[in-house]
Amino acid sequence: QLILGIESSCDETGVALVRLPADGSLPQLLAHGLHSQIAMHRAYGGVVPELASRDHIRRVLPLTRQVLEDAGAALPDIDVVAFTRGPGLAGALLVGAGAACALGAALGKPVLGIHHLEGHLLSPFLSSDAPQFPFVALLVSGGHTQLMRVDGVGQYAILGETIDDAAGEAFDKSAKLLGLPYPGGPELARLAQDGNPQAFKLPRPLLHSGDLDFSFAGLKTAVLTQAKKLGGDLAAHKADLAASTQAAIVEVLVKKTLKAVQQTGMQRLVVAGGVGANRLLREQLNQTCIQRGIRVHYPELHLCTDNGAMIAMAAAMRLQSGQQQADCSYAFDVKPRWPLDSICAA
Ligand code: ATP
Ligand code: MG
Ligand code: FE
Repeated sequence: QLILGIESSCDETGVALVRLPADGSLPQLLAHGLHSQIAMHRAYGGVVPELASRDHIRRVLPLTRQVLEDAGAALPDIDVVAFTRGPGLAGALLVGAGAACALGAALGKPVLGIHHLEGHLLSPFLSSDAPQFPFVALLVSGGHTQLMRVDGVGQYAILGETIDDAAGEAFDKSAKLLGLPYPGGPELARLAQDGNPQAFKLPRPLLHSGDLDFSFAGLKTAVLTQAKKLGGDLAAHKADLAASTQAAIVEVLVKKTLKAVQQTGMQRLVVAGGVGANRLLREQLNQTCIQRGIRVHYPELHLCTDNGAMIAMAAAMRLQSGQQQADCSYAFDVKPRWPLDSICAA
């Protein structure tokens, strides 16, 4: 079976083709294409929803053609069309959903709406070092920060999550305060390489709260206070402040993640979402996990942020596990807000 996946929840149009083997082995990525709108939104310092929707419209079919060509496949070869149903920007989601349902209807093939976070969560299965269930997952993206216990496809229990900003948001907002362009996460990480992470004392919110929740809103305020205090000297200390910010975010993520692993008694950790590309986070998690004999898995670097491959993969794994069936109703009700644990198997 060939599954086409379409991602359009935010500012990346992603399309991918995955093969679902009949023998029950892991689905294989045949080809994928991505168009990032970062350059377009940069002038506004963030994603402009209306511009995002319009650009998805422009990109989705050419990308689909490209992916099919790269895979040496044709439209009629597609067996199922998967798309991101939510969460995300309503207008952007509608483009992917509309394209998927139109393709499905035209080809007479069923469609399947996928949860974007399940896509992120299962993206490490696309890597050569694929994990095995069960595991603890740290999902760190632009809009979410969650620790989860994952026992199988569709078996997700949230252990803790952010009560305000996501880790990616903390990176992005702090970067903005430092005058770095959107999206600030990777920019801040780059700048931090030249800075001293101990230069500024920044809070480690909820580090000792006893639970597995996070809070990053206060950190951004602390960065702002520090930047104001520096005033005209900010430029000279920018790398130090970036390094201190990154160190604060990463320390909280690593310590809480370790706690989740210990509490659940799991031997395996999976990290997913855009912040999972962060080098310091990977280094510190690797070090912590090696010391304790915990195996840690990541998506490939280029599949940490949004892409179509993770949507096609999640669809393939849902179909394979019998969690869900694709259908021909072509009713594309997108879900801009959609908690991950609401899609769990009973
Ligand atoms: P969600 O998946 O929650 O809807 P999203 O799709 O916008 O949100 P992702 O695409 O998973 O989020 O990730 C984007 C986020 O990852 C941004 O906040 C970005 O700054 C951050 N990010 C990407 N690379 C890095 C990095 N190297 N270091 C820190 N943050 C990074
Ligand atoms: Mg993005
Ligand atoms: Fe995402």
